[in-house]
Amino acid sequence: MASLAQARSLIREVPDFPQPGIVFKDITPVLGDAAALQAVLDAMEERLRRRGFQRILAIESRGFFFGGALADRLKIGLSPVRKLGKLPYKTDRVEYALEYGKGTLEAHVDAVHPGEKVAIVDDLLATGGTAWGAAQLVQKQQGEVGAFLFVVELTFLKGRERIAGAGPVESLIVF
Ligand code: AMP
Repeated sequence: MASLAQARSLIREVPDFPQPGIVFKDITPVLGDAAALQAVLDAMEERLRRRGFQRILAIESRGFFFGGALADRLKIGLSPVRKLGKLPYKTDRVEYALEYGKGTLEAHVDAVHPGEKVAIVDDLLATGGTAWGAAQLVQKQQGEVGAFLFVVELTFLKGRERIAGAGPVESLIVF
């Protein structure tokens, strides 16, 4: 049985990716280790279950791995949030701040039904710009952000402070 501590030890640091100065936390070794992946998914499921969530909103692209598995475990629907131009149907859009500059996130107009309690899932919380954008989309579609849930949180970037006003913030592994 793997623990979250073991999953943490598998996270690989890649300096200067995708650009100089960024230390990228590569979670693919966690995905590749069955016991570590189960430990992470068990912990994520534990955080969300019995709280009445009706939908997972998974953020492109690594959020899809965890969001998809959690939707299956919780037996609830799954909607993707993607970068501009990837979704085929009509979308709602929101501009969000990147570390340098701006980006645009999209969700299909029917991604969230009015009144639904939604969990926003991603692999990692850095500055919080992406999660904030996803929360704006939920609010635009009259859903309720019942939780933000991340596998990894980089506390020194203070993303939690940025998004806490939009919903409860939870993470499993903190750096
Ligand atoms: P942010 O919007 O700054 O919170 O960035 C979060 C998004 O960018 C997530 O989808 C992460 O997968 C990705 N990300 C940002 N910084 C890192 C990092 N140092 N290592 C891995 N992924 C990152």
